[in-house]
Amino acid sequence: MGTTDAGLWCVVPAAGRGSRFGGEVPKQYLPLHGKPLLLQTLDRLAAHPQIAGLMVPLAADDRLWPGISTCAGKPVATTTGGANRSDSVLAGLRALRGKIRDGAFVLVHDAARPCVLEQDIAWLIELGIPAGGALLAAPLRDTLKRADGSNRVDVTEPRQGRWRALTPQLFRLGDLVSALESAQAAGIEATDESMAMERMGHRPLLVEGAESNIKVTTPADLALAEFILARQQACA
Ligand code: C5P
Repeated sequence: MGTTDAGLWCVVPAAGRGSRFGGEVPKQYLPLHGKPLLLQTLDRLAAHPQIAGLMVPLAADDRLWPGISTCAGKPVATTTGGANRSDSVLAGLRALRGKIRDGAFVLVHDAARPCVLEQDIAWLIELGIPAGGALLAAPLRDTLKRADGSNRVDVTEPRQGRWRALTPQLFRLGDLVSALESAQAAGIEATDESMAMERMGHRPLLVEGAESNIKVTTPADLALAEFILARQQACA
């Protein structure tokens, strides 16, 4: 397990509280296109022929997890996540250590990104394995401003060569555990896996992915995700 032939395991951090979203129900359980957002994401990942299984870090007080142990015939395991995203990812990776070898590649994909395309995951794996690690990303399209303390523009940043990091991200299990542990020990919150790997001297490959792979953060994003999923279904 964990080789290209057998497929890759994917850690799907889902232990966030969705505080920017607001409301009683954590955003990963809000209804989206007929099922909870988290299950949309898991269904999509499990349907991918190159994904072998899913490891889902959940909040310690999660009462809404449906208790599934398979999805589209693939194993689904859970573990308890942590205070921030990188803690949750690290918990998921540690829980995988008994199942797959340290040299195997793993994917990490935000539960809050239900619209990721099958083709983008395939490209990430195809290009990312020979590159030694990679992430889906999108070139920056807006003009970027750096603000001073009172929201006045300090400087306009060049957008050329700037990318927005998306997920999935693909790295070797053992390397990623070490990188996240090192960031944690240094008191640095790695907001994605690539950031932790960059600290260790890696230069992950940016693989351009669809802009439709949005992260659901606000109610407007949920409405947009609904629209994107309906379009994807109509075009399938
Ligand atoms: O908060 P944000 O939208 O950036 O979270 C990205 C992903 O990380 C979400 O899927 C969220 O559930 C997850 N997360 C987590 N543990 C945390 C915080 C966020 O698993 N403590």
